[in-house]
Amino acid sequence: MNKFLRSFTFRLTLWYTFIFCLSSLIAFAVFYFLIDSELQRRTDHALRNQVEEIGRIYQLHGLDSAVSIARLQAEAAGEKRAFFRMFYRTGVVFASANLDRWNRVVMNRVALKALFSGKSVFLETQHLDGGNTCNRIRVIYKRLGREVVLQWGVSLDQEQALLETFRKVFFGVMVPLFACALAVGAFMARRAMSGVDRIGRTARRISEHDLDSRVPVGRRGDEIDELAITFNQMLDRIQSLVSNIRCMTDNIAHDLRSPITRIRGMAEVTLARSSKMGPGREQEVLDDFVQMAADIIEECDRLLDMIATMLAISRTESGIDQLERRPVDLAAMVEQACELFRPVAEDGSINLSLDLGSAGCIVNGDIRMLQRMVANLLDNALKYTPPGGKVVISLDGSAKGDPQDMQDMVVLTISDTGCGIEGRHLPHIFERFYRGDQSRGTAGSGLGLSLAQAVARAHGGRIEVESEAGRGTTFKVLIPKA
Ligand code: ADP
Repeated sequence: MNKFLRSFTFRLTLWYTFIFCLSSLIAFAVFYFLIDSELQRRTDHALRNQVEEIGRIYQLHGLDSAVSIARLQAEAAGEKRAFFRMFYRTGVVFASANLDRWNRVVMNRVALKALFSGKSVFLETQHLDGGNTCNRIRVIYKRLGREVVLQWGVSLDQEQALLETFRKVFFGVMVPLFACALAVGAFMARRAMSGVDRIGRTARRISEHDLDSRVPVGRRGDEIDELAITFNQMLDRIQSLVSNIRCMTDNIAHDLRSPITRIRGMAEVTLARSSKMGPGREQEVLDDFVQMAADIIEECDRLLDMIATMLAISRTESGIDQLERRPVDLAAMVEQACELFRPVAEDGSINLSLDLGSAGCIVNGDIRMLQRMVANLLDNALKYTPPGGKVVISLDGSAKGDPQDMQDMVVLTISDTGCGIEGRHLPHIFERFYRGDQSRGTAGSGLGLSLAQAVARAHGGRIEVESEAGRGTTFKVLIPKA
């Protein structure tokens, strides 16, 4: 019960009903006020005509005729409906209708004052309390002659009765309407919340380890459907992240096992050999241990390097490591990288050439990360190109970005005439630890391209690759211009 009272559906229902009742009440109040003022306007209009007519007769035929006409018209309207009084300025009444019902109607001093200071007529409403009813009377005053005043009044009983009926009808209709509003409100609230329920149910199923569940998307295209689509997209992303993590832990387990096994093997072999050696061969045993220590250090360095690269990729991809951005001249940086790798190229008899465009190639980036990216790509190009091959690095700062790019891009191209990448490997080369068949005999961890791509993306860019097995590979790095 407590849960229901706190539920959004319940509160929404209450709000619907409250708003419905409030707007009905406001509409009622407005109509009531309009009808009341219209009735009063009509009554006042009739009263004015009435006294104006008597005033005219007074002017034309004198006081007696005016009294007779007033009496006749009061009788015609009915004793219960209208009355009149004629009195002098002093307040002495000299003619009136039957005042049995009206003797409590007062002669208002303010009205007399207003009339004798120039006002042609004066209107007021008087309230006569009679037991538990309160009768309203509309009264008009008109000055007929120098000292003579006419007071004419009508009962507002009929108007009051009409308004009373209106009130009763309204409240009579409001009770069933209120029940109706409650039912419609509950229905609409349930309908509005049904989508949220759907999403809630799916979230519960997922929390119970069913990551494959998706929220059914309706066909209305409303906010709830949009929420469901966004929720499903988020689930897709989470699922892909989870499978990435799973894949990565598998890879880590697999890739760390080999060096650790190697380290263990070295230690085991050295120990076994030393135990077999007899006395007098201490120097040989010592040399074995020194060699083992050197090998272990080398393996550990490789392992540490791999772990550091994995961390760098994760931190760059997740944005944990904020890039230290500042303007970087890519041309100068690429030139330095080329000089650094030239000895490697010469060792492998590879022709390494550089083609720097004329336009400025300044990007806003983290120079250390960009250097690592360029070094990885250059290292790969030299590693997978046989002796006699060619590696060309070019930079284009005047390239117009594709329509998909919001900004102009600097394009760095590294192409080689190496072994190339087979089509079936191409979609996977940016995955962590992925190594193609041709890389079996070469050193590497399968992390270089993952890091390069993470760096390019962190700078708002991307890497594209084109390759033909046996002919060569071209990597294009696109980074937004500063
Ligand atoms: P690795 O340490 O194996 O070089 P990378 O992540 O740098 O790892 O590259 C992934 C794979 O992509 C490599 O194993 C190789 O098969 C392929 N590859 C990358 N660059 C080239 C290239 N220039 N030519 C041919 N194959 C390449």
